[in-house]
Amino acid sequence: MDTIAAELNDRLEPVLTVAREHARDVDAAARFPEEAVAALRDSGLLGLTLPRDVGGLGQGPHEFTEVVSALAAVCGSTAMIYLMHVSAAMPLAAALPPAAADLLSEVASGKTLASLALSEKGSRSHFWAPVSQAQHTEDGLRVRADKSWVTSAGHADIYVVSTLTAGSETVDMFAVPANTPGWSVTGTWRGLGLRGNASAPMSFDVEMPTGYRLGTEGGGFELMMQTVMPWFNLGNASVSAGLSQASVDAAIAHTSAAKLEHLAESLSALPTIRAQLAKMSIELTGLRAYLRQTADRLVEPREDTMLHVLGIKASANDTALRVTDAAMRVCGGAAFSEHLQIDRYFRDARAGHVMAPTADVLYDFYGKAITGQPLF
Ligand SMILES: Cc1cc2nc3c(=O)[nH]c(=O)nc-3n(C[C@H](O)[C@H](O)[C@H](O)COP(=O)(O)OP(=O)(O)OC[C@H]3O[C@@H](n4cnc5c(N)ncnc54)[C@H](O)[C@@H]3O)c2cc1C
Repeated sequence: MDTIAAELNDRLEPVLTVAREHARDVDAAARFPEEAVAALRDSGLLGLTLPRDVGGLGQGPHEFTEVVSALAAVCGSTAMIYLMHVSAAMPLAAALPPAAADLLSEVASGKTLASLALSEKGSRSHFWAPVSQAQHTEDGLRVRADKSWVTSAGHADIYVVSTLTAGSETVDMFAVPANTPGWSVTGTWRGLGLRGNASAPMSFDVEMPTGYRLGTEGGGFELMMQTVMPWFNLGNASVSAGLSQASVDAAIAHTSAAKLEHLAESLSALPTIRAQLAKMSIELTGLRAYLRQTADRLVEPREDTMLHVLGIKASANDTALRVTDAAMRVCGGAAFSEHLQIDRYFRDARAGHVMAPTADVLYDFYGKAITGQPLF
């Protein structure tokens, strides 16, 4: 292990220990994983991908993939909270709002947990097309938006919120610190999976200086496509990989240990079970290779970088659906009960493909891209 990998490992291990310890209870009680998020704040990993000059760790897509995937293998909810944090932090770093000059160092120090508030009831999973509007006021802006799902709702310290630009059809994104009056969490979160996420609806009606806008007026769509989507898609795919890994590991462990005493053999001695385990393992290996190649493309962009960004999430989400389903199957009733926790990986994995850009939208975009049609 090189020095950087060892340093990251030292930071990550304590977080994994805490997240693992509480994952079962977080899922059962559908509660925010306060302990794991506190450990993340202490670890320095909230600044993993931020530049060193603001106190970040200066790491890139490969390290991000490793961290998210390892978190997902122990607690899907914590991994998704971390993913939404980084997906909000990266556009802040790319287009720092002038009114929030210290924001990046606060994120890097662990003081500030971020989240993305893009999806709206009006445009559903089409996150690139908000229907809410910002308005110019005498002192700045009034940002009004009803967001349908916001991970870490009520727990984050800053929300990156999208709206249509005041008086125009273009899109803006704003940094809304949690101490700004005028927002509320308007519902509760009870998910099939990722039950600790607090992905509740939120309503914003906040007045703020224009200096809280990310980048130039009307630049939100570009930021979403060039910054948010690459990091989000890679990280979301990494969550799928981590959940798949946990399922493969648990299925191998269980089918190797569970005995058919009358035959004097384990479940894994059955050829059908072995073949299912092999398929799961091969699918996961393929996904890991695709993840590495996509991370390579983000570090050194090529002509097919956007294709990788579109393809990796759809492919990983569907891989996780198949792998976690196969794990449920080979482990039988033992998986259906809760003690193996495979049911949790199975339920958590179902969220990936409905998170925007959804897997089906990505297949459509990918298809458009390879047939020379415009994406939008
Ligand atoms: C656990 C979880 C956490 C989330 N966290 C956040 C968050 O932090 N921030 C945030 O902004 N959002 C978040 N979301 C919302 C998410 O990104 C999606 O917007 C939401 O899941 C879409 O649900 P919907 O019912 O509106 O889907 P719909 O848009 O109604 O889609 C229903 C189906 O239609 C398909 N579909 C829609 N359009 C097309 C198309 N053009 N081509 C092909 N198929 C299409 C979809 O793929 C899907 O299968 C979260 C969602 C979940 C489940």
